[in-house]
Amino acid sequence: MKNLFCCLILLALAACQPAQAQNRIAATLPATPTGVVVLATTRAPTLPPTNTPSPQPSDTSAPTRTPRPPAVSATPTPFALATNTVRPSPAPSQTPTITPTLPRIDHYALARPIASSGIDYLDRTYSYGDTQRGARSIHLGVDFANPRGTPVLAAADGTVYYAGSDSARLFGPQLVYYGNVVVIQHNFFSPEGLPVFTLYGHLQSTAVTTSQTVTQGEQIGIVGDTGVAIGSHLHFEVRIGTTPDDWRTTRNPDLWIYPYPSFGTLAGRVTNNGAVVFGQALTIRPLDGGSTRYAFTYADLTVNPDAVFGENFTYGDLPEGQYEVTVSSEGGRIRFRQTITIERGRTTWLDIALQP
Ligand SMILES: [Zn+2]
Repeated sequence: MKNLFCCLILLALAACQPAQAQNRIAATLPATPTGVVVLATTRAPTLPPTNTPSPQPSDTSAPTRTPRPPAVSATPTPFALATNTVRPSPAPSQTPTITPTLPRIDHYALARPIASSGIDYLDRTYSYGDTQRGARSIHLGVDFANPRGTPVLAAADGTVYYAGSDSARLFGPQLVYYGNVVVIQHNFFSPEGLPVFTLYGHLQSTAVTTSQTVTQGEQIGIVGDTGVAIGSHLHFEVRIGTTPDDWRTTRNPDLWIYPYPSFGTLAGRVTNNGAVVFGQALTIRPLDGGSTRYAFTYADLTVNPDAVFGENFTYGDLPEGQYEVTVSSEGGRIRFRQTITIERGRTTWLDIALQP
């Protein structure tokens, strides 16, 4: 029943944002950062051409198990303790940092904003930084497809920075974009020492007020479809820095939300002759025969990578195990293929240098 409902919702759910064609151009990539968590940089072996069809962004597979995420300690994380003063935020920019100098250490700090009794996994058909192959504007966050009225929960302890309509206060590219919205500032800092905020958009109603303190798991509102939304769902964002009203400060929630127990995260960067590749499809096939997933690299340089990872794609909530990651040309020629291991509770890093 839940799966059927999920499929219906996913089919019905269009997006938070109006359609807008996106350019898919490459840009020069600065020097490769140091520090690798799991996988070393490996060039793909030369492989014979195949007739593999280009993947379509139609994967609606979700984790087959939806166990509760691990309890998150209220104790500030080490990276939070390391910084008590807020450093000046870099100006909200269209040229995100993609040369992280911090070690690639996971910084999961957020629980899911939907309880396990609801649909608490991300809609992978419209991931962070994706455009659904140019059909929609760049996604600034991630979506949890749930019916109207589903409780929305604080992802971590914090203080409500704003709660109410965005009809008179700009949080997105336009007014009345998120509809009823809650923004929470959390009690810890990002690895680069900046304030961390989460944003919950399209709410039917809010259940908290500005300046109120909240604890992780506390209900802050209910799912709706206010603002620019087609179909009820929760739009969820992570924003980093001292200008949380600015929609250009978003980061990828996959790198902040704890994976399910026995699940992990894939993150990496796809380059072609040293240049970042935009909107590139990746196929992630489990070697144990489970369902194949598809990921897409970020649409352009306006999509902020994580300060620690410098990624241009992620795929969260992958069951632990081995996968074959492939990237093919439009004609089906394989330009990269590598077997990787996803470990529970951590991020596996993969550098993908495309073969000509
Ligand atoms: Zn959204």
